Amino acid sequence: MATDAASKRSRNGAPDSLGTGVETARPLDPADWAQFRELSHRALDEAIDRLATIETRPVWQPMPPEIRNSFESPMPRSERAFGEVLDEYRARIEPYATGNAHPLFMGWVHGAGTPVGMVAEMLAAGLNANCGGRDHVGLEVERQIARWAAELFGLPPDASGIFVTGTSMANFLGLLVARNAALGDSVRAEGLRAAPAQLVAYASEQAHGCISQALELAGIGSRHLRLVPVDAAGAIRLDRLDAAIAADRRAGLRPFLLVGTAGTVNTGAVDDLERLAGIAVRHQLWFHVDGAFGALAALSPRLRSRLAGIEHADSIAFDFHKWAHVPYDAGFLLVRDPDAHKRTFANPAAYLARAPEGLAAGETWPCDLGPDLSRGFRALKVWFTFQTFGADHIGAAIEHCCAVAQHLERRLRGSALFELAAPVGLNIVCWRVHGAADDGIHQAIAMELQKQGIAVPSLTTLDGRPALRAAIVNHRTDKRHIDAFVEAMSALAERKLRKSHLSA
Ligand SMILES: *Cc1c(COP(=O)(O)O)cnc(C)c1O
Repeated sequence: MATDAASKRSRNGAPDSLGTGVETARPLDPADWAQFRELSHRALDEAIDRLATIETRPVWQPMPPEIRNSFESPMPRSERAFGEVLDEYRARIEPYATGNAHPLFMGWVHGAGTPVGMVAEMLAAGLNANCGGRDHVGLEVERQIARWAAELFGLPPDASGIFVTGTSMANFLGLLVARNAALGDSVRAEGLRAAPAQLVAYASEQAHGCISQALELAGIGSRHLRLVPVDAAGAIRLDRLDAAIAADRRAGLRPFLLVGTAGTVNTGAVDDLERLAGIAVRHQLWFHVDGAFGALAALSPRLRSRLAGIEHADSIAFDFHKWAHVPYDAGFLLVRDPDAHKRTFANPAAYLARAPEGLAAGETWPCDLGPDLSRGFRALKVWFTFQTFGADHIGAAIEHCCAVAQHLERRLRGSALFELAAPVGLNIVCWRVHGAADDGIHQAIAMELQKQGIAVPSLTTLDGRPALRAAIVNHRTDKRHIDAFVEAMSALAERKLRKSHLSA
């Protein structure tokens, strides 16, 4: 048996400076694999049960103060049994998640996830692949997803694609590629001060806030984003766009980027991508499409035509975690010209040098296509999702969401209590309480439904007034859920109207 002194000597006999001993590792593997296996199988069973019985639970529940406060405990210094930590997860974490798996979660735009995606994510964690680069299967799967996306949207098969956190990031990276294409590669070293003229970008006033933020992050400034008015359907007005570009040209500015939205976050409106593409060509603008959720409507043969023109895009940003239900996060950027994409980000660092063979082989690595170096295997959960369900099933689920949204629209139209606040183009319904004296009733209704765990609608502002909003994204949401929702909301609205009547 090694003595204490001996164990503090490294292999060559010299004492090691940390004094911890190099002879025996203290790995972070379980001491008892059989017990670990048992606990893990149980945790997986419970996670599956949770999804299988999701409807029986409140959509969401507020965290009691003692639970919230319990997260103020300091970093633990010593070990605890894995089983004990799992118990804590069951008590303090699992019950207080967002709730987006539930069929009556309709707030913002949230994907619902799938049991298959959950297992895929677990398997990816087991492989623990670093998909920033090198020659391994993770990169091959990601390239396959890029080809699938290119085919789906009608871009050339050699279009380049990269997983990112979400569409916010994908829009930002797309903008950087557009900036590089407009000013040339020298902008990377010289910066924007060396540009011959001020860059200007265009999007509709219903474009997502991350577009404006992307201009800020890129150093161009959100003041140089023209937010073009929309028509009654919520789509960008082409006449106003044309006029804005012409005015900027006359003023000596440099229009460089046109962002079309395929599915606005407020109302689900889709810009006329075909005509936007024509305007982009005419004015030599980079044509980027923010298709965060809406672009995946291309999976449905019946909805595909709404996206006509997307095939002309220079770049497309979208999320697999929204309408394709891949677990968070799985944003994607697709760029038509692979060279333009690579020239924006590739770095010649020595430690990233490529070799003809071995693990350092390969020409383009994902770290050449964005700022991330270490990155996880997001492609695996997308691969599993499409392999398991097939694109047609996912497309049918998307179509079903639109049908459910139309059902909600009919129910609201048929009720004297409510009025629609925007046309229902795709899967998003916005409405108000009819004749409400106080607009605060909308937020009060949303909060009450959320707190009671009945449903999660969200709130938005349209034409300067608050409106209730339901984005039907969940593949589990059915007509009967919507009927129950309308009943509960009607009762609540009636009660609140009566109360405000009495107090008036
Ligand atoms: C959700 C959304 C975004 C932002 O995407 P994230 O994945 O949340 O970063 C951008 N644009 C639109 C239209 C969206 O719906």
